[in-house]
Amino acid sequence: MISKIIPEELIHKVQKHISNAERIVIVVHVGPDGDAMGSSLGLWHYLMTLNKEPVIIVPTAYPDFLSWMPGSECVMVYEENKETSEEFLAGADLIFALDFNDPKRMGNLSDAVMATTVPKILVDHHLHPSDFADVVISLPELSSTSELIFRLICRLGDFSKINLAGAECIYTGMMTDTGGFTYNSNKQEIYTIISELIKLGVDKDDIYRKVFNTYSADRLRLMGFCLYKKMKIYPEYKAALITLTAKELSMFNFKNGDSEGFVNIPLSIEGVDFSVFMREDNERIKLSFRSQGTFPANKVATDLFNGGGHLNAAGAESSASMSDTVAKFEDALENYKDFLEK
Ligand code: 5GP
Ligand code: MN
Repeated sequence: MISKIIPEELIHKVQKHISNAERIVIVVHVGPDGDAMGSSLGLWHYLMTLNKEPVIIVPTAYPDFLSWMPGSECVMVYEENKETSEEFLAGADLIFALDFNDPKRMGNLSDAVMATTVPKILVDHHLHPSDFADVVISLPELSSTSELIFRLICRLGDFSKINLAGAECIYTGMMTDTGGFTYNSNKQEIYTIISELIKLGVDKDDIYRKVFNTYSADRLRLMGFCLYKKMKIYPEYKAALITLTAKELSMFNFKNGDSEGFVNIPLSIEGVDFSVFMREDNERIKLSFRSQGTFPANKVATDLFNGGGHLNAAGAESSASMSDTVAKFEDALENYKDFLEK
């Protein structure tokens, strides 16, 4: 039995909105990850069984290692199809916003979504959702939005409408947002849900291989370069930093998704509890923060770079140069010493 953590009143609202809508657009955050894709496709497959007309619009392309996901071929990339995406948004009866807590996380897609007047339903697990949706289902205690989508569909009384394709997508999001169930994954009910997904036919070992073991030689060489040449350790702060400039990325024919997971690697070093990865991307620096234990990665992301996220996994962007961004980080490390576990 899975506990009923979504308030009944919200379930009724979602039910009503779905039954009143035909054309439903689902949007997620920029740089869609396994959870953004898993939750949106999980919901998409469900809405298809209700004979609705759902469309997923992602602001920017999703990584190749997720392209096996059933239904991903129907996902529209806003950056590549602006006009068609805007037509879908203009014709929508209802919008689901998944896996982000603020419209600005949709990047360039944000204006087009916010210009619509149709009802919006936010389903998310990030802290502090901003006030932009008509229905807000925000459960930061959950480790993934995909898990939340599973719970939502069940509470709508439609467990029987989760098909294998949808189950695979939901499982993928649950797996990727917990690093293959290695963090944020101590809640018992996660495994009750997984058990249900396996009953529906999900081959979890196969999904693990498809997501984590299909890398290119270029990615592995880039990883080697990072660890050998670009990883800096700050033992007194139990911290590590990896940086990659655009020039370095091009040396390894960098493709979207190639550096996925790099930020986690230094956490496998004894005595490192906080890891930061900075990558140059379109004149900006994309920062990823990971921690273990009680060290607040999201606090550092917010304080220094106006970013955000979860306690152990956060992100931000910097418009300063790489060297200034690194200097800002290094100068601030001392301020977070008290948060380190002894
Ligand atoms: P990642 O390092 O995988 O890109 O992001 C980890 C988490 O940090 C995401 O799940 C998201 O919650 C948050 N995050 C990533 N980038 C940003 C950002 O630019 N701004 C904010 N507020 N949060 C971010
Ligand atoms: Mn997520």
